[in-house]
Amino acid sequence: MHTLRASKYGLSIKKLPPSIIEVIDALSKAGYEAYIVGGGVRDLMLGLNPKDFDAVTNATPAQVKAVFGRRCRIIGRRFELAHVYIGRDLIEVATFRAPPKKEVTSAQGMILRDNNWGTIEQDFARRDFSINAMYYQPRKGIVLDFCNAIADIKSKTLRLLGDPAKRFEEDPVRMLRTLRFAAKLDFKISEEILNVFNTETAMLLRDVSPHRLYDESQKLFTMGQLQRILPLLIDFGVWKQLFADIKPNLTPFITLAAKNTDQRIQVGKTINPAFFYAVLLWENFLERTQFYLNKGLVPAEARAQAGLDILKRQCTRTVIPRFAETFIREVWEMQTRLLNPKPQQIESLASHARFRAGFDFLLLREKSGDVNTEDMGYWWDIYQNMSTDEKESAIAKYNRQRVKKRRKVSSDVAEEVPVSTESSVIEPLVVEQENNSRRARRAKAKRVATSSQGNTTAVNTSSNVEIDDRHPILKRKRVQRDLKHVVFGPTQ
Ligand code: ATP
Ligand code: MG
Repeated sequence: MHTLRASKYGLSIKKLPPSIIEVIDALSKAGYEAYIVGGGVRDLMLGLNPKDFDAVTNATPAQVKAVFGRRCRIIGRRFELAHVYIGRDLIEVATFRAPPKKEVTSAQGMILRDNNWGTIEQDFARRDFSINAMYYQPRKGIVLDFCNAIADIKSKTLRLLGDPAKRFEEDPVRMLRTLRFAAKLDFKISEEILNVFNTETAMLLRDVSPHRLYDESQKLFTMGQLQRILPLLIDFGVWKQLFADIKPNLTPFITLAAKNTDQRIQVGKTINPAFFYAVLLWENFLERTQFYLNKGLVPAEARAQAGLDILKRQCTRTVIPRFAETFIREVWEMQTRLLNPKPQQIESLASHARFRAGFDFLLLREKSGDVNTEDMGYWWDIYQNMSTDEKESAIAKYNRQRVKKRRKVSSDVAEEVPVSTESSVIEPLVVEQENNSRRARRAKAKRVATSSQGNTTAVNTSSNVEIDDRHPILKRKRVQRDLKHVVFGPTQ
């Protein structure tokens, strides 16, 4: 074991948030050993900005609770932990763990329960990578390094503690962690890991709960290195385990969305991990929608059913929470609305809660070469930055183009086979209003009276007489209506 001087490796108490110092101090004051461990120490040493700080102690979760009282909650069954709330921060406090007892592992060697308390020496060996097993005591200004982790930090190598095959068996999620840290830190994966990590080992992930896999997939999507991690997921056969039905193929759309997500994270913008699920599953959704359209479902129903099917299938691998599912389906549904909006709905669409995500999605599709967006991503992009007057004339212009397009489609439809997509369904432009003036009412009453007198003849005429090409109905000329002056009313 090496005791390193913290200051020599860029660690200083000044770089720590007050919450983690408070936790370490409170536990030390109560007579326990307490350290900062894991990603926080690792990232500080690498000059990165740690996401959070985890603490480890020789106090049991119940003893931690006794120290922090109501500010502490004990969580987890498989892996019991204390959550300590300091102001707005949450600090995870783990207890030193010894190797698990035999009876709590599954037939495949997976650890089902890991709550066997131990010493710091036992605890370090239970951790995953050497670089995640350094113990920092900020008040003493020292780092305890039991496995020469500092050499791996310097050579940028990801090394699993112990036998990699056994460590993957114990917890297959370590495979995901391997790829995540390799991508996030730009570390190389050690030879020992590469020797055992392949498509076959990745199949162990089937035994991991889909809830845990969803959490892990979120970490993969939000660490800011999607562009690096996606090819790794495919190469190591992990993709197949996480997203069974999605083709392991980085389409231009997926690649661009990954790049965009990484850039957003880099500049500190928020991202919704469900958005990337919407991207990944988009092709499957389109295919499934087509399947239902071929079966004769109307487009809206086909989309709704396809959305349900696709998400249900994905949930057998990673359980997407209900709110995220709703988000994904709304983003997909927005695609139809944004592609072919009714002019009078444009304004309200732009202020819809899901507009931003739907629009981003549409623009990414467009920029990655999807011609089906018909340049509407670009249209909405410009529209959003217009003044109210400009918006009004943009809508009027859009309306004229839309009418023109529909006329064209309608004449095409008349000549050719029926088209099944919703965008080409022609709706009536104007609903003919019944003329309700007194004169019109009188004229109508007169018409009814005459027709009732000659009722029998009329019936006979319609049922017995064939309409030949001299019939007046076929001689009627089609009058072209000028639709420029038609005003859209609320009925549409
Ligand atoms: P980050 O928080 O940046 O994602 P981290 O290394 O802190 O990375 P956590 O999931 O917060 O990751 O875990 C904290 C520490 O707990 C890790 O550094 C590691 O020492 C240990 N650990 C976490 N998951 C495992 C695991 N599956 N097997 C062994 N040790 C683990
Ligand atoms: Mg952490």
